[in-house]
Amino acid sequence: MGSLEALLALQEIDTALDQLRHRRETLPERTELVESEATRAATESERDAIFAQLSEVRHAEKAAEDEATSVEAKAAEVERMLYGGTVTAAKELEAYQADLAMLKARQRTLEDSAIELLETAEPLEAELSSCRERLDAVVASIDDAQRRLSEAESEIDREIREVESGRAEVLEPLDPDVVEQYVMLRRGLGGTGAARLNGSRCEGCHLEIPSAELEAVRRAPEDQVVNCPECGRILVR
Ligand SMILES: [Zn+2]
Repeated sequence: MGSLEALLALQEIDTALDQLRHRRETLPERTELVESEATRAATESERDAIFAQLSEVRHAEKAAEDEATSVEAKAAEVERMLYGGTVTAAKELEAYQADLAMLKARQRTLEDSAIELLETAEPLEAELSSCRERLDAVVASIDDAQRRLSEAESEIDREIREVESGRAEVLEPLDPDVVEQYVMLRRGLGGTGAARLNGSRCEGCHLEIPSAELEAVRRAPEDQVVNCPECGRILVR
């Protein structure tokens, strides 16, 4: 029997716990979330850039329309002067005529420019709305991945709690000093602090123990903790 048998059971439990924690840390949903968050950030900056460009175009369009309106009002005023009958001098009428032509031309230019800006805004609006749709989709996929991640975490946490409750039971008959030594060895030796002695071989390092040392290991009293002379792990005989 030997109370150190329990140390191997403890070793098995600790290995299972390590694996569960590793699985928890490396859940594929985590990578998925990192990628989706990056896509979200990129899509948000894309949306902001399109929005800024569109605002600029809309602003310019409004400015052109406003100016066209005010030029139109000025032209109407000149027209009133021209045909109102108060101005009769040919030279003055000619000057008004020239003014009117210039204002009309300016108005047309402004109106054309407003139309052009409107045409520039249309594809930007479409781009913005498709960008917003993509953003909604990525936000939905983030929510979904987060939900799946927390489900997977809860499931692993449940398993961890189960294994941990078994650990307390296995720990009970063991000498706390031996457990402490086991924990320290385990930390330094890749997760294995105790190993079975199988014939003359340590199952921790898989090395044959030289016969002189093996003799000493075998002669040691059963309650004495013996370490593998090759790797230092506690040998369970
Ligand atoms: Zn060894």
